Amino acid sequence: MNKSLKGIVASKGIAIGKAYIFEKVKVEVDKSKIDNSRINEEIKRARTAIEDYQNDLNNQVASSEEIQGVIDAHKELVSDPYLIQTIESKIEDQNYTSDHALKETIDEMVSMMAMLDDEYLKERATDYKDIGEMVMYKLKGIVPKSLADLDEECIVIAEELTPSDTSVMKKELVLGFANDLGGKTSHTSIIAQTLSIPAIVGMKDITSNVKHGDFIILDALEGEVLVNPAEEVIQKYQALVLELEAEEERLSKIKDKDSITLDGREVEVVCNIGSLTDLDLGLENGARGVGLFRTEFLYMESNQFPSEETQFEVYKKAAEKLGDMPLLIRTLDIGGDKELPYFEFPKEENPFLGWRALRICFDMEDVFRAQLRAILRASAFGNVKILLPMIISVSEIKKVNALVEKYKEELRRENREFNENIEVGIMIETPASILIAEGLIQHCDYFSIGTNDLTQYLLAVDRGNEKISHLYDNYHPAVLRAIKHIIDVSHKAGKWTGMCGSMASDSHATYLLLGMGLDEFSTVGSQIGKIKDIIINANYEEAKAFADKVLSMTEVEEIERAIDSLEI
Ligand code: PEP
Ligand code: MG
Repeated sequence: MNKSLKGIVASKGIAIGKAYIFEKVKVEVDKSKIDNSRINEEIKRARTAIEDYQNDLNNQVASSEEIQGVIDAHKELVSDPYLIQTIESKIEDQNYTSDHALKETIDEMVSMMAMLDDEYLKERATDYKDIGEMVMYKLKGIVPKSLADLDEECIVIAEELTPSDTSVMKKELVLGFANDLGGKTSHTSIIAQTLSIPAIVGMKDITSNVKHGDFIILDALEGEVLVNPAEEVIQKYQALVLELEAEEERLSKIKDKDSITLDGREVEVVCNIGSLTDLDLGLENGARGVGLFRTEFLYMESNQFPSEETQFEVYKKAAEKLGDMPLLIRTLDIGGDKELPYFEFPKEENPFLGWRALRICFDMEDVFRAQLRAILRASAFGNVKILLPMIISVSEIKKVNALVEKYKEELRRENREFNENIEVGIMIETPASILIAEGLIQHCDYFSIGTNDLTQYLLAVDRGNEKISHLYDNYHPAVLRAIKHIIDVSHKAGKWTGMCGSMASDSHATYLLLGMGLDEFSTVGSQIGKIKDIIINANYEEAKAFADKVLSMTEVEEIERAIDSLEI
């Protein structure tokens, strides 16, 4: 029987092959109460299980930096004294068996993480579930099924894959993933994107609709899995795969080229990163620098505010990897939808209009000082620039500039090196920053447009609210006119404007943005080849004329039609 199942595209591509159903062993938890005489024995069992798992982690050889990151994160979680103490006190105070104590402790931690508003942190609950599962196997003496045992090429079908599953898998045999659970930021999605494996998540019940060995087409362009399709469908997809491979091959030759238009205008194509792993990927994809380092991930993955030293090491490594290429480090942009597991944010009616980003940094000067000093120190090792989020006034830039000077003076006294001429730029993502752009540019070195927030604030449309997502539109004439104004203001002052919001990664917008005079496109790694391709084959003067025409339009539909009519 052939059927089609739908889900969310986690990593684009098409895979054709046999299904491998990866099922977890179901563990029975012993919920009986133990006698006091057994307490010590149960505590010992729990400790031994945790130690055994720690030993496994210590002996595991990582096949990539990403996998090493998973192993390190698990080592940290499983060694967390809070975890161990909670398990022990459940055994001691409530006479739980060790497996019951473990199960309940992990469940509590998972539901705590799942309650957070932040998608990214919510998904980190998977890591807790994962270590809980692995320790449980140790307690029960179970050797779990493993993706290390694959012996032929296949598409892995699972309820959900944990970091432990993917860290041991033979990736050369995995053609694709399809999961019942998970969202765009789930572990499977991140790993699939990192390894360029097509993946669909959130399929709800794929595990009950596909049998081991079924022939399937995983269409991770449309978010669809076709089970035992007809021969002509297979042939159609095989032809599409060849086309995609040819296009990929063509773009891979372009990715390392300079981004210069046919008539000689050069722009920068750089990448957005949240970690050193993202940087490696960006560089592999042909990025000529970093236009946005979202440092909040460093803070979100920690269990306390990261120290100056910790941050310095990361920024320095990134700066060294990039050499002369720019590294724009954005100062902490927390608040809004991004919370920290170790810091209590006040309950706010409108978090996106609330205590976030610089507003927090000004109130918590120690936190800001550690970050600015770390960035300054890293500036001795490469082409580092500071990028400030959520600016609404000149006085904010002046305040940061004064702090930067103060910390420079401290570093001089400590005989530490830094770039005396480090540039400070600002994100343009609030309506106020557009209206006072002429004043702002006098006090900073460059602009970078954050279209994600800019669009939400300009149109008064919450960027995360699915109910009104149809109103959220980067191509709204108000957004386009704001972008053009910002670029013009910076150019008049002899400075430059980049874009690090998602619009810069949207190849549909590239020609228009080029024509508006954008100087730098900071994109997700996978889009670099495509965007360079458009720039290299464009004529800047023609793109300018096109942008002028579009900027005179007053309706989104008209703008979309004009862009669609381009033969790009
Ligand atoms: C933006 O707002 O466009 C941006 C790049 O920042 P973030 O998505 O991190 O808010
Ligand atoms: Mg933003």
